[in-house]
Amino acid sequence: MQHFDIIIIGGGAAGFFTAINAAEFNPNLKIAIFERGKEVLTKVKISGGGRCNVSHAEFIPKELSLNYPRGEKELLGPFHGFMTGDTMEWFEKKGIELKIEDDGRIFPVSDDSQSIINCFLQETERLKIQVFKSHAVQNFQKEEKCWMVKSSKGDFSADKIMLATGSNPKMWNMLKKLGHEIIEPVPSLFTFNIQDARIKDLPGIATEAEVKINSKNVTLESKGPLLITHWGMSGPGILKLSAWGARDLEKLNYQFEILVNWLPGFTSEDILSSLKDLKTKLAKQQVVKNAQFDLPKRLWKNLVIGSGIAEGTTWADLNKNQLQNLSDQLTAAIFKVNGKSTFKEEFVTAGGVNLKEINFKTFESKLHKNLFLAGEVLNIDAITGGFNFQNAWTGGFLAAKAMSED
Ligand SMILES: Cc1cc2nc3c(=O)[nH]c(=O)nc-3n(C[C@H](O)[C@H](O)[C@H](O)COP(=O)(O)OP(=O)(O)OC[C@H]3O[C@@H](n4cnc5c(N)ncnc54)[C@H](O)[C@@H]3O)c2cc1C
Repeated sequence: MQHFDIIIIGGGAAGFFTAINAAEFNPNLKIAIFERGKEVLTKVKISGGGRCNVSHAEFIPKELSLNYPRGEKELLGPFHGFMTGDTMEWFEKKGIELKIEDDGRIFPVSDDSQSIINCFLQETERLKIQVFKSHAVQNFQKEEKCWMVKSSKGDFSADKIMLATGSNPKMWNMLKKLGHEIIEPVPSLFTFNIQDARIKDLPGIATEAEVKINSKNVTLESKGPLLITHWGMSGPGILKLSAWGARDLEKLNYQFEILVNWLPGFTSEDILSSLKDLKTKLAKQQVVKNAQFDLPKRLWKNLVIGSGIAEGTTWADLNKNQLQNLSDQLTAAIFKVNGKSTFKEEFVTAGGVNLKEINFKTFESKLHKNLFLAGEVLNIDAITGGFNFQNAWTGGFLAAKAMSED
């Protein structure tokens, strides 16, 4: 039976990063990666719309950790050991040039996830890490001195193993048998399905907004770009809510109401007083044709009509109720969400191994010596923007350091 110092189960982001770093820490180690698929790094390939958003330009550990609805407290320590700046340096040392976009997302300059994959494949080859594709791990168990790994293509053994299997329910079940608690998985990072005349015919329109959920004991709010789509609403402002509310919104069966303030920072009273001024200033002009507050013209028109003001109405015609309705519509428009859709650029599962059972200095299981876990297999996930990969890199790096020591 073939024996390795380290077997990594899962040829994804966390698995490759662990293997490469462990080999760099200790070039004498015999390391193997087992991947069930015909290809490795398949999520890296499709990530970030094919561009791979590797991290996010947030360089303060505490601030970075705030982007993790699950894992915020636990990742703070690890981020002091390896975070954004280290990730950038790591890739740049390997010859991958990176760029920071205006919204803070970090991508390879090539805008092609294949650059990251090529880098990982070259490194595994250089460091003589064996990559076993189409080797699905069916079981792993602790023997007296090592771990036995049973794969679809035969049995192997290793001193240390790393579980980097992402959100695979089968592996979670195996971990349950080893005594680990698995927090029930639910989707995170999804868009909201909304059928509503006010946003119909506006797909592609993006604007800054504040969004609140105040439905059956779920209170959440976010601020950021909101994108109107064919199915409803998306954009970072909405995706943030889907991440923070992943568990609660699943309980509501994705049926709830949101309150949208299209003019972030302004209250209904602020806007009402501006509208009263406009009534005098623009008296003879038609309200629908006169977009205000820098709102996209077509959105303004729909919101005006949505507040019960007919086309052709002039500012002078507006009565007290109409002014109030319009200011409410602009600052607290209620929309009914009915289901969710997948956000194609990035999605992730909330849930996984209970974080109480992990030593976050080393990413080793507190229950089993020489069993390490990193990436999405853990109950860690983030909002969109490169934070999910950063979790994989951080866990992978610190685990690699610990695994390469005696
Ligand atoms: C469409 C999409 C786009 C994304 N874009 C981004 C982005 O741009 N930025 C970002 O930060 N995050 C992004 N994410 C999230 C990110 O991809 C994940 O957080 C990250 O891939 C998790 O890494 P991982 O190594 O833990 O798991 P994975 O990447 O899922 O890798 C796990 C690997 O383990 C293998 N495996 C599972 N079970 C077994 C087994 N029994 N035996 C052998 N192998 C096994 C799987 O086949 C897989 O290859 C995106 C996700 C999706 C779905």
